[in-house]
Amino acid sequence: MTDLSHLKADFPVLENGVHFLDSGASSQKPIPVLEAMDRFARTSYANVHRGAYKLSVASTEAYEAARRRVAEFIGADNPSEVIFVRGTTTALNTVAFGWGLENLQEGDRILSTEIEHHANLVPWQMVAKRTGATLDHIPMTDDFRLDMEAYESMIGPDVKIVTVTGMSNVLGTMPPVRQIADIAHRHGARVVVDAAQLVPHVRVNVSDLGADFLAFSSHKMLGPTGIGVLWGRMDALEETEPFEGGGEMISDVTLQSATWAEIPHRFEAGTPPIIEAVGFHAAIDYLESIGMEKIFEHDMELTEIALQRVGDVPGVSIQGPNNTIDRGGVVSMTMEGVHAHDLATILDEGGVAVRAGHHCAKPLMNRMGVAATARASFYVYNTEQDIDALVTGLRRARELFGMS
Ligand code: PMP
Repeated sequence: MTDLSHLKADFPVLENGVHFLDSGASSQKPIPVLEAMDRFARTSYANVHRGAYKLSVASTEAYEAARRRVAEFIGADNPSEVIFVRGTTTALNTVAFGWGLENLQEGDRILSTEIEHHANLVPWQMVAKRTGATLDHIPMTDDFRLDMEAYESMIGPDVKIVTVTGMSNVLGTMPPVRQIADIAHRHGARVVVDAAQLVPHVRVNVSDLGADFLAFSSHKMLGPTGIGVLWGRMDALEETEPFEGGGEMISDVTLQSATWAEIPHRFEAGTPPIIEAVGFHAAIDYLESIGMEKIFEHDMELTEIALQRVGDVPGVSIQGPNNTIDRGGVVSMTMEGVHAHDLATILDEGGVAVRAGHHCAKPLMNRMGVAATARASFYVYNTEQDIDALVTGLRRARELFGMS
C-alpha cells in the first residue's frame, strides 16, 4: 500500500479529524500553497504586464513563471498555449463560444457524451442554438463506459468537434481519450477534453493525449479557486476568437474596432488571478514532489478498498465501474431505501464529508435512473481509515433506517 499518511499534517483543515472525501468537488490546500500566496501578497504583489516599476515586473515574472510551470506539468512545449481562466467552466465556455461561434454552422454536428458534467453540456447547447449546429451524445454502456461502437457509427465528416470528459466526476470512468481523438482527427474534427477530474489525478501529457483543447481547475488539485487552465494547440487557438474583450487583450483599439494581442494574452482580458497563479504554481510543485504516478497509484489502492468494503454493505449499489480498470478515485453509491442526502447527513454526523446530489450531471442521473448519489472521492491526504469511517457510517445509516 502506498503510504502517504504523513501528508495529512500539511493540510490545516484536516486537523479536526474530518474524513474529507469530497476532493472531486474541491480539494484542500497544503501549507506550502497557503504560504506561497501569503508570502507573495506580502512582498511582491502588483498588477501584471502594466507597470515599469520593480514590483510589477516581479509580479509579472511570478505570473509568467506559473504559466511555464503549468506548461511543463502537462508536457506542453510552448507556454503560450496555456491560458489562465477562472476554471474549467470558463475554459470550456471559451472553446464553445470562441471556437464554436467562429467555426460551426447549420449542418455541422457537435459530438459530446451522456456522461458529461453540465460545464461540458450547457455551453454546447447554447452554441448549437446560436449556430444551428446539431448536438449529439455518445451513449454510456450499462457497465458505465462510453459506447465506442456507437461513437464510431456517429462520427462523420459533418462532426466538427468532439468534446468529452477525461474522467467522469460521477462514475470515475476514464474514456479512452487517445482513441477518441484519433478517430475524431481522422474525420477532421477538433477534440476537447474536460480534464477537471483527470489532470489532478493522472499524469497528462498533451502530446500523448491527442486532444486539441484541455480544460482544468486549480482548486481540484490543491491550489486556490479562481484560476484554471485552457490549454490549446497553437493551431486550434489560432482558429479561436477571444470570448471576452477588455484591457490587456488588445494590440490596438480605436473607437470602432480593435485588434488582438498575441496568444495567450488575447484570451486573458482584464486583471488575471495573480495571487492565485502563484498558489497554483506551488500546488503543482507540491504534487510533483509526491509524483503524479504515486498519486494515481494511491488513488487506485483506496478505490479498490472502497469498492470492496462499500460494496459489501447490504443495500448499497456502486454507481460506476465496479473494478479499477480505466477509472479514477471517484466512488458514487446509492443505498436502497435511503435518500442520498439523508445518507450524506448521517455520514457527516460521523465526521465523513461526502457529496450528495446530481453532481451537475442531470442527464447522466436520468440515464442511470437515479435522482441522486452519494459520492466519495479520494486524494493524496486520504487513508484507509477514511474509508473505514465511511463504511461505519453506511452501516449506521442502515441501522437508523431500521435495516440490518
Ligand atoms: N467538469 C467536471 C468533470 C467537473 O468535475 C467539474 C467540477 N465539479 C467541472 C467540469 C467544473 O469545474 P469548475 O467548477 O472548477 O469550473
